[in-house]
Amino acid sequence: MADTLAQVQKDVQFWQRLLTFAGYKPGKIDGVNGRKTKAATHEWLNDAAHLKTEYGSFDDRSERNIATLTPEAQRAARIWLKAAKAVAEAEGYDVRIICGTRTYKEQDALYRKRPRVTKARGGQSMHNFGIAWDIGIFKGKEYFGDHPLYAKVGKLYTQTPGITWGGTWTSFVDQPHYQLSLYATSTAARTEFEK
Ligand SMILES: [Zn+2]
Repeated sequence: MADTLAQVQKDVQFWQRLLTFAGYKPGKIDGVNGRKTKAATHEWLNDAAHLKTEYGSFDDRSERNIATLTPEAQRAARIWLKAAKAVAEAEGYDVRIICGTRTYKEQDALYRKRPRVTKARGGQSMHNFGIAWDIGIFKGKEYFGDHPLYAKVGKLYTQTPGITWGGTWTSFVDQPHYQLSLYATSTAARTEFEK
């Protein structure tokens, strides 16, 4: 999985789309890492660095995953994570972001996995647009897939402007999942992303 930005960038065409989607100007989406794409990448990284300074930085795993999000989502993720960590730490736990952006190819590979882990193909998950992240509850190295803290830190989404929490969904409750509310559906995001 793309748990680093470098892995996302390796799929140049995907990366150019993501840059465009996030408001940068990498030029033609042609799969070539040319001058304009490099300049847009530089701008993205610069903005991301500023956000890190402004909103604070976290554990390595969270940082690697946050780096794969669009800067707008990075801002929201940092604001939310700071509050969530404080709540979890008060109970002796830690919250980490364990998944950020997946390329279409990565999503398709995940879709083919058996037993089934997702119903979403490439372009059908909010994780394919750089605006969604999943969290894990930890105590040291131990990971808890199921824990009351998922619900507790989830409620903090109301204090973070512009985000939606998967724990509020009625058809498929997804407590570890957060996303920007900018695009309520992946279809709307895809229309924008694939332009
Ligand atoms: Zn998710």
